[in-house]
Amino acid sequence: MIRILKEAETNRGEIFAREDPVDSVEEPVRAILAQVKARGDEALKEYTKAFDGVELTSLEVGPGAVDEGFRSADPLLVEILYRAAERIAAFHQHQVRNSFLVNEEDGILMGQKVLPLARVGLYVPGGTAAYPSSVLMNCIPAKLAGVKEICMVTPPGKNGKIPPNILAAARICGVDRVFRVGGAQAVAALAYGTESIPKVDKIVGPGNQFVAEAKKQVFGQVGIDMVAGPSEILVIADGKCRPEIVAADLLSQAEHDPNASAVLVTDSAALAEAVQAAVEEQLPKLLRKDIARASIDRNGKIIVAQSLDTAVEIANEIAPEHLELCVEQPFDYLDKIQNAGSVFLGRNCPEALGDYFAGPNHTLPTSGTARFSSPLSVDDFVKKMQYTYYTKRALEKAQMSVSNFAKKEGLTGHARSVDIRFDPAFAEETP
Ligand code: NAD
Repeated sequence: MIRILKEAETNRGEIFAREDPVDSVEEPVRAILAQVKARGDEALKEYTKAFDGVELTSLEVGPGAVDEGFRSADPLLVEILYRAAERIAAFHQHQVRNSFLVNEEDGILMGQKVLPLARVGLYVPGGTAAYPSSVLMNCIPAKLAGVKEICMVTPPGKNGKIPPNILAAARICGVDRVFRVGGAQAVAALAYGTESIPKVDKIVGPGNQFVAEAKKQVFGQVGIDMVAGPSEILVIADGKCRPEIVAADLLSQAEHDPNASAVLVTDSAALAEAVQAAVEEQLPKLLRKDIARASIDRNGKIIVAQSLDTAVEIANEIAPEHLELCVEQPFDYLDKIQNAGSVFLGRNCPEALGDYFAGPNHTLPTSGTARFSSPLSVDDFVKKMQYTYYTKRALEKAQMSVSNFAKKEGLTGHARSVDIRFDPAFAEETP
């Protein structure tokens, strides 16, 4: 049963405690990465047989098979995917940044170019469920950034194939190449390259603890978006909320993962008790009731706060991935929210809307990292390059500042590289 804690009677440690996900998988993942680095495709096929129970002859799913998947996907889902893709693209279009050029006196030019990453690897989870929404949320910002090649990896199903709904999503949003391999081995393939899978510049996308650990270990060799932890929701609800609706929202995250966390913070003790009962009533009816039960019992919490203002303080301290403000005047509270991945305002805005359809990204900072990081965006798929042009006259004006600055740092070689240009013995005839 979901626990009820009273803010006034509970120490802060207990309010903010998070159950850490299971045992570390650092060592097994290290071994998988080393094997893939050394033996390429052969190791990928061995791990796919061991972990997914599938014997593969080829790793790549060709364009013909992607088209076939698209044609055999659920037509209702395909229609929804098109509409969702449009909404996601429309939102992310606002994130596209321009390069800039600054023109100063004496002919100085300085600029910043925004350049797309050349090749990106997109991990789409596929172990316990298929997530076409993850394909859209990760691929669309990459496309808008102008990434030249998007390589998707996802584990094969028991029949050795990738589910048609995933292939349909990949085709709709323009994934370039698709590979049927998952887990840490897929991350290794994208980081190091194998005979079949090209090395990428950055790996994005959520996955289980093996995937997250592998991304952590290959960081530096390649870029990564974030190390995604289990899903989280924090709902701030006032006494006017329907307990059944709040319970449904909490369960919508609890069903993701046994380590997911669902937290309600309310100023109403009556709502707290009613939500506790509603969770018990609704949970057994879920398809994924075992996962939701584990999550609710392990990490579920209802905190009765002294006021909605202290509820906001608690939310800021927890820095949840998803935050729902189910209160009368949600925009009054939005300004006070400092730490959250994505905020859902008002009583008509279930977090599931953001998972699939609204437009903002659903790949969000978890485990309190919303204190310093942001949702996945077009920014994740670009890099910036600066450039500078000085004329002789401009350099002359800057000479003493640069030269003396360098000498104060003890770097006389730096100073000389400027001064030599004004030494008559070496003067060049440049403008
Ligand atoms: P997954 O694709 O992440 O992992 C499946 C792979 O894990 C398998 O192919 C296998 O290679 C590997 N694996 C399994 N057992 C192993 C073992 N003992 N040793 C080594 N490797 C092993 O799929 P999943 O397991 O269903 O996990 C999906 C995760 O993604 C969940 O945690 C879910 O919450 C998360 N998710 C997050 C978002 C988001 O946006 N935050 C969206 C969708 C899913």
